[in-house]
Amino acid sequence: MSALVQLLTLGADGGLYLPGVTIRDWPYVAIRYVHLYVPGPAGIAFFKRYVRDFLLRYRFNGMILEIGGGVRLKSHPEIAAGWKRTEMELYAYGEQVQKVGESGPLGPGRRFQDTTHRGIGGGGYIEREDLVELVRFAREHGQEVVPEIQSLSHVYHLACAHREIAELPDALFPDAYCPSNPKSYKLLFEVMDELVEIIRPAVVHIGHDEWRAGGLCPKCRKKDTGVLFADDVIRICRHLKSRGVGTWMWGDHFISYHNEKRRSYGRMVWFDYPSTEGAWKRVREACPEIVLLNWTWGFQPKGETTPDVGDAELFRKGFRFLYGNFNGLSFEGWEERSKRYDVLGAEVSSWCGMEEFEIGKMHIAAALASIDLLWSTRREPKEKTIRRVMSMLSEVRERMRGTHEPPVERKRRRQTTIDLGGVANAGLRGETWDLRGLKTGRFLADGLACRLGRRAVVVRRPHLGKKKFPSAVEIAVGRRFQTLVFLQSCTGEGRRPIHAGDDTFFPRESSELVGVYDVVFEDGLVLAAEVRYDENVSAWNAGLKGLLYHARCIVAGKLPDGSPLVIWGNEWRNPRPDEPIRLIRFRGTKGTSEAMPMLLGITGIDKVRLSDYRAKK
Ligand SMILES: [Zn+2]
Repeated sequence: MSALVQLLTLGADGGLYLPGVTIRDWPYVAIRYVHLYVPGPAGIAFFKRYVRDFLLRYRFNGMILEIGGGVRLKSHPEIAAGWKRTEMELYAYGEQVQKVGESGPLGPGRRFQDTTHRGIGGGGYIEREDLVELVRFAREHGQEVVPEIQSLSHVYHLACAHREIAELPDALFPDAYCPSNPKSYKLLFEVMDELVEIIRPAVVHIGHDEWRAGGLCPKCRKKDTGVLFADDVIRICRHLKSRGVGTWMWGDHFISYHNEKRRSYGRMVWFDYPSTEGAWKRVREACPEIVLLNWTWGFQPKGETTPDVGDAELFRKGFRFLYGNFNGLSFEGWEERSKRYDVLGAEVSSWCGMEEFEIGKMHIAAALASIDLLWSTRREPKEKTIRRVMSMLSEVRERMRGTHEPPVERKRRRQTTIDLGGVANAGLRGETWDLRGLKTGRFLADGLACRLGRRAVVVRRPHLGKKKFPSAVEIAVGRRFQTLVFLQSCTGEGRRPIHAGDDTFFPRESSELVGVYDVVFEDGLVLAAEVRYDENVSAWNAGLKGLLYHARCIVAGKLPDGSPLVIWGNEWRNPRPDEPIRLIRFRGTKGTSEAMPMLLGITGIDKVRLSDYRAKK
């Protein structure tokens, strides 16, 4: 069905066309999953849209759905309530990235702790019945659901609501339970049993990555942490087996160079990793059927040159695995590695809340760039994949957004390019940039009418001394538009963005604001379109590395080294399409980097008319 949908094209006459073809098609690997947080009440509609119009359409076939405290259960409603409270407290506690450089709260003695996975349940929770419906909907759309029921590590939802099971009860926010406390398992298994009853999964993912608070409480202190880790896994695996359910888990603690014992005192943070040496052997003997998610695929120990040492170690130890946190853009040697280690497949993660902005920024492009490796045996250079993903994104965005407005491409006749000739103040070559290879004049880029001149508009940012450029430039408009597309670039690199999921409660602030377009209406109201580095603009020479979901990535010429030159179309939807726009004031904003925003063109798009929908007979 998704093949049929992909083949449909819209003709100029408004009709749908399907070519006459014979299709022989089957997947390369069996597991083509994603990793998601369970949505909150406000994310349910987006979750469904994403399942139907993204996962199914692009031939993913399942999800690992991290539950955390995001579902209110009959057996333990206090866990969901406690999770909501924990999220509220973490919000009040403040952004840790700026203070200590870590996204999670620190433990006693500035001890490093796991990430909290902010955003599970939308920062609160959904009801049990909502989960039943989401699972039904996902299955109906060809998606298997593997619940991730985290245990041992990353269990803020259990240990904050039930401090009596915490390994470090004195922690402000405890992140692990004590494996020597029988109460830990009573609680965990009651939660697990209810979730298994609701979801009826074939397997459960039990987490177990990044265990940090281990062997610390009076009961565990004298025990071997490798044995503690292994026995916890075995106990849970056996419990699930007794319910007819298989076990998956993260594989990092079975790879010697990944999470081996380590202690270090950073400037702000004390890192302490308990040893899990030997754990793999106990687990392997007691639960040979366990499947690992190997997310070490991109890590290399010092001095190692081959990318697959982690794969080889797991394979040698006799584990079956799929790749976790997979990203086709950065994965090296897929063809050989997937065969050599008889890999089950891969999952592309998101690690953010289930809503369009975050999923778009953190996940969509990587997922699109990965699926061909998982489905097809036809291989292409990465450059080609990126270019294809770039040209697909505006259409994907329209679908993910879920509005009723037709995409820009369908409104060719309604596009106007605004002349910047009078205000352009910079050459295509400047102190730090060289865009002389930019394609100028008028052209269509994936349906968008572009007009680029031989000069650009650069504005100074208040913290930069460069008086050469004005701090603001005004562009007269004098008419109505539904959408404005600012064709933009940057004179250099902006601040590296912080992770829009785990690192912040303010995902829309995760990228540096380098400039603003103030849209000034005739009636005096001013609205702003933001220019955010690594969200809707990148450096002038980023090229294909500037693959961004929240912009139209337009390949428009060649960089000095001959590689593709990319500029970014910042699409601003006007909520007031019937009110004339007097002018646009383009200005630089205060920040930390030297990057100045650069405007190359503006395309205005009229409000859609009924005749756009109903073609003349
Ligand atoms: Zn303990």
